[in-house]
Amino acid sequence: MRGGSYLFDMPSVQLNTDVALGVAIPARNARGRIARLTGVVDAVLSSHNYPPVIERLMAEALVLTALFGSLLKEAEGQVTLQAQTENGIVDLMVCDYLRGELRGYIRHDPERLAEAGPNPSLFALFGKGYLAITFDHPVMNERYQGIVPLEGDSLAQAAQNFFAQSEQIPSLVRLAVDKRDGQWVAGGLLFQHLPEGEEGRDRLHTRLDHPDWPHVAVLAGSVKAEELTDPALPLDDLLWRLFHEEDEVRTLNAVQLTRGCRCDPGYVRSVIARFPPDEREAMVGEDGLIRVDCEFCSSSFSMSLNEFSVD
Ligand SMILES: [Zn+2]
Repeated sequence: MRGGSYLFDMPSVQLNTDVALGVAIPARNARGRIARLTGVVDAVLSSHNYPPVIERLMAEALVLTALFGSLLKEAEGQVTLQAQTENGIVDLMVCDYLRGELRGYIRHDPERLAEAGPNPSLFALFGKGYLAITFDHPVMNERYQGIVPLEGDSLAQAAQNFFAQSEQIPSLVRLAVDKRDGQWVAGGLLFQHLPEGEEGRDRLHTRLDHPDWPHVAVLAGSVKAEELTDPALPLDDLLWRLFHEEDEVRTLNAVQLTRGCRCDPGYVRSVIARFPPDEREAMVGEDGLIRVDCEFCSSSFSMSLNEFSVD
């Protein structure tokens, strides 16, 4: 038994997969989030019919969204991650998080993807792309959006640039995706240096050169891809591996993650109702119905024109 205090709360949820776990290292003014997804990825992918390259990208984007979501200060907060691209194989990628629920979709060009081979670069996928990350806190009536170019080798690097450029917080992001026994596993971690150990977004006195940060970054950065994607390794055990020489490591709340879509017929109808009558008429298909598909979960909603009053 080593010295030091380890305040690992008794978890109320399992810490192997489809979960995000918070961690604080008070003496180093650092906080982190670590997440792993299996069933959530399967559930999201089951609504789509993506080739393996796009499935892998979706898995990676979902775990990144889970990490961002677990940073939210408010239970009703929402994070939306959207990649806007120019001349990339991927035309649009959207993932979002609300109350532990994740969903996402990717629009891409299958022909160009096939030409690009099994391992296209980030640039091939997104072209001159941008990653927009939006934090919504409806109760506090706050919205914050940051946009960074999709540069570098990976989504993880773009996310790191987001924190460096938009928030000026020294951060480290690692993401890993693997297919094990036919099932996608996505794992990731995010560590940040906080001013004076504050667990929050107020950081007037962040010092970019604080000596504690390189130490935390080296330990967190030593995580191996196969550790992030091993569902047999609970996340608190993985944190122990990385930080067991620290005096105090506190795990925070764990958030169980699920796949959830918030599309509902009433909302879809209200959107259609806002169009002028002539535009609504133009939406009617051969079967006499207006049909709207949810891009996230592929649910199809149909309604007839006379459901909309003409007043
Ligand atoms: Zn839906």
